[in-house]
Amino acid sequence: MSINLDNNATTRPAPEVIDAMTECLSEDWGNPSSAHRRGLSARRRVDLARDSVAKLVGCRANEIVFTSGGTEAGNLAVVGGFDRVRQSDPRRRIVIGPGTEHPAIGDAFAECVRLGGEHVTLPVGNDGLLDIDVLEELLRARGDECALLSVMWANNETGVIQPLDRIGRLCRDHGVLVHTDAVQWVGRMPCDFASLPVDLLSCSAHKFHGPKGVGALVVRSGVQVRPRALGGAQERERRGGTENVPAIAGFGVACELADSWLSADRLESMSRLRDGFERLILDSLPGVVVNGGGAPRLWNTSNLGFESTRAQFLVVVLSERGVAASGGSACASGSIEPSGVLLGMGLDPETASSSLRFSMARDTTDEELERAVEIIVDAVRAARES
Ligand code: PLP
Repeated sequence: MSINLDNNATTRPAPEVIDAMTECLSEDWGNPSSAHRRGLSARRRVDLARDSVAKLVGCRANEIVFTSGGTEAGNLAVVGGFDRVRQSDPRRRIVIGPGTEHPAIGDAFAECVRLGGEHVTLPVGNDGLLDIDVLEELLRARGDECALLSVMWANNETGVIQPLDRIGRLCRDHGVLVHTDAVQWVGRMPCDFASLPVDLLSCSAHKFHGPKGVGALVVRSGVQVRPRALGGAQERERRGGTENVPAIAGFGVACELADSWLSADRLESMSRLRDGFERLILDSLPGVVVNGGGAPRLWNTSNLGFESTRAQFLVVVLSERGVAASGGSACASGSIEPSGVLLGMGLDPETASSSLRFSMARDTTDEELERAVEIIVDAVRAARES
């Protein structure tokens, strides 16, 4: 038996996705830039996928730039966006973001600093929500020096959802470009880019049953980013390099599947599953906290602190008993440092080191969660006794 509660790290590719990719590899293997038939048929695959991504995200097809995933999309948004803003207005050199961003964004901020920018880190409260008052104050005092703000729509470790609408509108009032890292949001929650006050949005296929190594940056019409991958006119000159056609086709199919799942109105019942899972654990064990529990959260994410335990140890014990969970983000899971996201929320290092992330997929069942709770409760009791 194996219960996968680590879906924020990655999800199992859907069979329909695998079929589409296999078909591309064996039949539509042409270069989409070639003018002959084989090329045109590969181009058609890319165009179809672009339409499916656009439908899921709620943007125009020509606003999509295919990338190698969320990391590249986030890099392109932050560094490429910053570069372009600075070029047209050299006074705007500040990049803004909370300290709880994914390293793909944190390192992109560092690159902006290397290029002559200044990085201002915004604090988050105990609930994980960005401190809007501090943002307002910064914009009031130095708004005309700010180039770009980047904020995760839903946090990868806690699932906490930021008030993107409010943040975006504030930034727009001061002419500041807004990027949202929507890697954990897209495919799980409804998205209507057209009505969002943001300029750039990144997403990644493998978080919702698509393949790894493919994602997209959505660039609002009229907004410019300086390309990072040079050497080709692909993606309307925003990302050079021959398109990864099989992965893009798989991404498109994953978007179609997510779109029909979302229209089946399952969000409330999935949130109930998550709440039931947390309630069972809280009722069975003392000394458990739900990190970010006071804020709106993604239906699939539960970050729990188990007093007097070590997350690194629990992850291994749970894995041996058939439950996959995580001690933080996948990229940092080899590290013994407590999670920067949880520390940023003001948790003490002890509680942060005792916290585990459980993340569900749309096919996670009640039975799986009940069985997982038994295993988790046993493991935590044993860890505390030892
Ligand atoms: N941003 C967030 C919030 C993520 O959770 C991840 C992946 O874990 C990424 C960016 C990076 O995406 P990718 O793995 O597609 O590069």
